[in-house]
Amino acid sequence: MRAGCAVADELLILFIEDQALDAELCAHELRRSGLDFSSERVCTRAALITALQDAKPDVVLSDFSMPTDLDGFAALELTRLHAPDVPFIFVSGTIGEERAVAALRAGATDYVLKDRLERLPPVVQRALEEARAKRAATLAQEALRESEARFRSFMEHLPGNASICDADGRYTYVNEVWEQTFGVRAADAIGRHCDELPAREAAELMSAYREVLRTSAPVVHVTRSGGDGEAEARWWLSHHFPIPSRDAGTPLVGTIAVDVTERTLQEEKIARLSRIHAVLGGINSAIVRLRDTRELLAEACRIAKEHGGFGLAWIGSVDETTGVVTPLASAGLARDEDMAASGLVIFGTPQAGGVVQSMLDTRQPAMCNDIVAELDGRSERRREAARRGFRSLIALPLVVGGRVTATFCLYSKEAHAFNAEEVRLLMQLATDVAFALEYIENERRLTYLAQHDPVTGLANRERLCEQLQYALDAAEPDASPVAVIVWDIKRFRVINNTFGRAAGDELLRIIADKLAAAWPRVEHMARLSADGFAGFVTKVSRASVIAQWMEEARSALAEPILLSGTELLIAVTAGIALYPADGADADTLIANAEAALKQAKVRADPYAFYEAAMNAKVAEKLTLESRLRRALDRDEFVLHYQPKIDVASGGLKGLEALIRWNDPESGLVPPGQFIGLLEETGLILDVGMWAIRRALDDWRHRTRQGLPTPRVAVNVSAIQLRRPEFVEVVKDALGGGSLPHGLDLEITESMLMEDIEGNIWKLRALKQLGINLAIDDFGTGYSSLAYLAQLPADALKIDRSFVTTMIDRPESTTIISSIISLAHALRMRVIAEGVETDEQARLLRLLQCDEVQGYAFGRPVPWDECFASAR
Ligand code: C2E
Ligand code: MG
Ligand code: MG
Repeated sequence: MRAGCAVADELLILFIEDQALDAELCAHELRRSGLDFSSERVCTRAALITALQDAKPDVVLSDFSMPTDLDGFAALELTRLHAPDVPFIFVSGTIGEERAVAALRAGATDYVLKDRLERLPPVVQRALEEARAKRAATLAQEALRESEARFRSFMEHLPGNASICDADGRYTYVNEVWEQTFGVRAADAIGRHCDELPAREAAELMSAYREVLRTSAPVVHVTRSGGDGEAEARWWLSHHFPIPSRDAGTPLVGTIAVDVTERTLQEEKIARLSRIHAVLGGINSAIVRLRDTRELLAEACRIAKEHGGFGLAWIGSVDETTGVVTPLASAGLARDEDMAASGLVIFGTPQAGGVVQSMLDTRQPAMCNDIVAELDGRSERRREAARRGFRSLIALPLVVGGRVTATFCLYSKEAHAFNAEEVRLLMQLATDVAFALEYIENERRLTYLAQHDPVTGLANRERLCEQLQYALDAAEPDASPVAVIVWDIKRFRVINNTFGRAAGDELLRIIADKLAAAWPRVEHMARLSADGFAGFVTKVSRASVIAQWMEEARSALAEPILLSGTELLIAVTAGIALYPADGADADTLIANAEAALKQAKVRADPYAFYEAAMNAKVAEKLTLESRLRRALDRDEFVLHYQPKIDVASGGLKGLEALIRWNDPESGLVPPGQFIGLLEETGLILDVGMWAIRRALDDWRHRTRQGLPTPRVAVNVSAIQLRRPEFVEVVKDALGGGSLPHGLDLEITESMLMEDIEGNIWKLRALKQLGINLAIDDFGTGYSSLAYLAQLPADALKIDRSFVTTMIDRPESTTIISSIISLAHALRMRVIAEGVETDEQARLLRLLQCDEVQGYAFGRPVPWDECFASAR
């Protein structure tokens, strides 16, 4: 193909000439001038058309009159038709002036007389050059058109506004989306200045333009357009960038703006809701922790401020009959600012028509979504709120015992901060707080009523604690020790069951009297439990004195007691802790005395001192440790598997591997009795990996037989996770990570939160290996929501304690429900552990729990038994 590039040796000249000699003469003249070419000669119409179409000559030299079916004009016409760009030159002996002009008009390039053939070479040369230039120009134009078409098609398909302005800010181009957005046709926009747009955008555009022109670099920003109201507002992500122009000094500025309103609103909504979820989570954990009304309310306010991002939160009690509000707690005021004096918090009767009054009237949340706009005729309090920059406010009712007893008020610096979904979540929050208040109130009443044991008239544990603490506080630091003694009656339960409760109560009274008589020095005797008593003695000179009292007590009780006509021999066991050696406060001392009591019972001693008890425990631990080491060597550990059931389908969702020690001496030992020690000694590293390998082996063995096998979750201790090489070791056990496996891991919440930063990347790496992760015993630790959201966990396992108590304690249900909504918001599944009854299972299904696990669905059993019924 030669078209478009007439290289000299490929040049083809087509002669339209009936006289071969004439054509030869022309050729000769041309060659003589140094032109190198090949040629073809035709003299009929048919031959000309074929030549033009097939041979594609670079130049046509034509005679004017021929004796064939072709004359000069016909030849010209055919050439223009079939090869419009090829130069056509008449070479003729006879061409009058007039015809020459007609020929040029008809499209001939030039003409040369046969008797002036020396003109031919320059004419041909020029014609060739012109043709070449014309071809090049056409190509360039085509390329330009194509690029233009590409640009337009690109711009019209761009899902955003696109425009180009010159340096003065006048539109030179706008795309279709732009036309639709601004309701201005392109034809009307071109040439107009961009400040003819709505003022706000124009100002932003102009400043972006100036920035682009100044820096010659792109500028990206998000702008908001539309009114103040939420509904019309739109957000745009705009890219402004310089486009070089022919006039090199002043580039054009291109703008592409994409509507990101949906995304922005979605993001804001998620951020707001997750803040409220954070508040809910925080408050639920406060409810679990705190048992004091004031403390709880202060914590609720603090959490609302710090986690919920509310500028001010306060809670005030409400007297429903008088409507008087008394502030109880707040967060967000200056450190030493008095609530009542702040001018913000209500102290007394709320303003009629204000949000608190509306809330009281309707017993529903009441809010103001634009404080500034609704300022007219409002109270000073509202003005003060506006002065401090608050724009929205909501008053939530706290309903206790069917009455509105308090209000929880939240202030936000954003207008329209409370939409329906937020209000729903906030009401959940108010319900939780109210519930906690009610709970605390009930508990307090009960404690108050039970200051004394009704049977013996003795103080109860709490009262004993108070009195002991009082005595400890009063004791000189280096005064003689205080002894705390707890004791219980041997076989009391048997006696109670045999003789009945009335007789049991009578026995307790007799024993209390006898002990009091035997130990006149024991102050403040108390009844701790069904068969447990306690008391303390101050100014003990020597521990040996106590040992002596113990003997005295034994002999005092040695006389048989007559109960319902039967003589009974009674014995007691005692545990003793000494202040200051065994503890600094009342709780610790009583707990340690109880630990000593347990030791005494284990060793069948009549009494034991705390120290001695501890020593024995250490020894016991050492033996257990060496036995556990041996257990690993002798392969005495076994795994049992417990099913996890999918709530929706009722199908088997997975298995949890639970370790047991098959102790040759005492049989199957549950993990609660040895995991702690394994962790203390570091043995957990080996035992933990053993469990992972064993579970993998069991899984693979079954899978290889082609049987359907559910995934298996193995528990890992934080000690294991803490090891830098943990991920590598697990990967090793998986066979390098490329083989299929059904391994999942469970990690206890509290342990996970210990070193969160360090753990996160390991968890990510584990996930990369195809391992699903569950956070175990969730609800017992105090997870930070921020971290929880970062954790690459797939599931939360609600701790058994909540499930066990959910039927009797509504707060457990509240906690479970909020854990579930939290988990779902974080896209995690929720598994409830320890489901023992159908009732629990039903309630969990209602709360939208995803999976259940517990005795109601299957106890942990050896691997083969899991599938026994399936076989
Ligand atoms: P976990 O991971 O929370 O396991 C659940 C425990 O609840 C198991 O106790 C299980 O037998 C028990 N359980 C399940 N359903 C019910 C029910 O309906 N009612 C009651 N009362 N209990 C139920 P188990 O087997 O004694 O294990 C106790 C803990 O020991 C486990 O708690 C886990 O933290 C730990 N553990 C078990 N195996 C391993 C292991 O291989 N490695 C490590 N590091 N820890 C393990
Ligand atoms: Mg577990
Ligand atoms: Mg658990």
